[in-house]
Amino acid sequence: MPIPIVQTGHPVLRTEARELTRDEIKSAEIQLLIELMRETMKSAPGVGLAAPQIGESIKLAVIEDEAGEKTKMSTEELNLRERCPVPFQVLINPILQPAGEEKVEFFEGCLSVSGFAAKVSRYRNVSVAALNEHGEEVAIKATGWYARILQHEIDHLNGILYIDRMQSTTFSSVENKMRFWDSQDRPRQFSEQVE
Ligand code: ZN
Repeated sequence: MPIPIVQTGHPVLRTEARELTRDEIKSAEIQLLIELMRETMKSAPGVGLAAPQIGESIKLAVIEDEAGEKTKMSTEELNLRERCPVPFQVLINPILQPAGEEKVEFFEGCLSVSGFAAKVSRYRNVSVAALNEHGEEVAIKATGWYARILQHEIDHLNGILYIDRMQSTTFSSVENKMRFWDSQDRPRQFSEQVE
């Protein structure tokens, strides 16, 4: 059964979560939580879910991006965002560092700010040090959309939402985002008037 997702305004989303010990990671309780989070992310559907989003203030997040079909994005749109499939992955106590200064700006949304989207500038390349579901150290280098997902989910573990980083004048209902912005995240009306 998917778990209900906490919406913005709940203090758990604004609290820095606590780290897990290796013993905790191996516990039946956390292993079950990981499975529930995976299921919840899939059914939402989403490409990432952080524990605070289901009310658990611990540094645990899951990610999986099938890209392709499910997104209803064309190959061109996927390429523009450098969006490739990311297999299911568990991140525990992650620490993120930007790799270089380059940033890219696209619309993103959040299951905890349901029904809205905004343009957010994110590092194009990042590296992450974390533990996996077995308590083993993993080092990740990511670029493009994968890097964006990592930044978004790891922000959740530190009490940060994308609305703290968004270009606030672009904040839109999903419906208006589709209506007034094209598939390359350019304003429709403006570009149509200019051309
Ligand atoms: Zn989110």
